[in-house]
Amino acid sequence: MKIHAIKTGTVQVHERQRTGTGRGPLRFANTLFDSNWSEPLPILAWVVEHPEGILVVDTGETARAGESGYFPAWHPYFRWGLREQVHRQEEIGPQLERLGIRSRDVRWVVMTHLHTDHAGGLSHFPDSEILVSAREHQDAQGFVGKARGYLPNRWPVWFAPTRVEFRPEPFGPFVESHVLTSAGDVHLVPTPGHTRGHLSVALDLGDQVVFFAGDTSYTEANLHGGIVDGVSSLGGGVDAAARSLQRIRDLASMRDVVYLPSHDPESASRLAEALTSAVHA
Ligand SMILES: [Zn+2]
Repeated sequence: MKIHAIKTGTVQVHERQRTGTGRGPLRFANTLFDSNWSEPLPILAWVVEHPEGILVVDTGETARAGESGYFPAWHPYFRWGLREQVHRQEEIGPQLERLGIRSRDVRWVVMTHLHTDHAGGLSHFPDSEILVSAREHQDAQGFVGKARGYLPNRWPVWFAPTRVEFRPEPFGPFVESHVLTSAGDVHLVPTPGHTRGHLSVALDLGDQVVFFAGDTSYTEANLHGGIVDGVSSLGGGVDAAARSLQRIRDLASMRDVVYLPSHDPESASRLAEALTSAVHA
């Protein structure tokens, strides 16, 4: 099964967003007013050429994010919390074309969550089934959604995703999941924390589980260290985020897991190495 990493430009966040400090509202303030910026981090989306159809996980960012007025000026996070660089040719649509994949041939687009750097490329997929957790879709609506850091006003007008309600179908340590494929090898699992409705996508290849982790953590080291980011206090909460990280570590103790966060500079090479070693094993 071919799996591609698609880098749709870069984002810089404050270091204390990657590694949160403090409790409650202070935690978000620490993030926002941190004077240290990360290096430009990849904004990753993923494409799986699954036998049952092409699966895309997240859609990356749009080049429109660079236009003045795209982000609400009144919102402190968009004002002070991130810097993005996305060129038109880096959007997911043109990148799929370069891989020889027409976006109308994409069967499913699964969203880990609806933050702008994951949902910015939605407009490329008018013909695909788009799946979002019901909680995430609910939380992102309207003015309250905007205040939480979503941009519902930038969604395509046709955007009406399939709202995923998790069912009591265990996958490893996850007691609930949503099974996407008939083969039963793609599991959407709840990983609340970064946002309340955040999910991850586990692709079970038999010998390996490829785990598309969205923003459960910013790096693999932060997964192992149980380091929760600086914005989970606004989303699903720091404790929920820590429990999600623990559950992923539990999965990794049972199975060979390839952990792929959206903004980890090592994610793309980690995937390539894992797939190469599996071929040669
Ligand atoms: Zn996010």
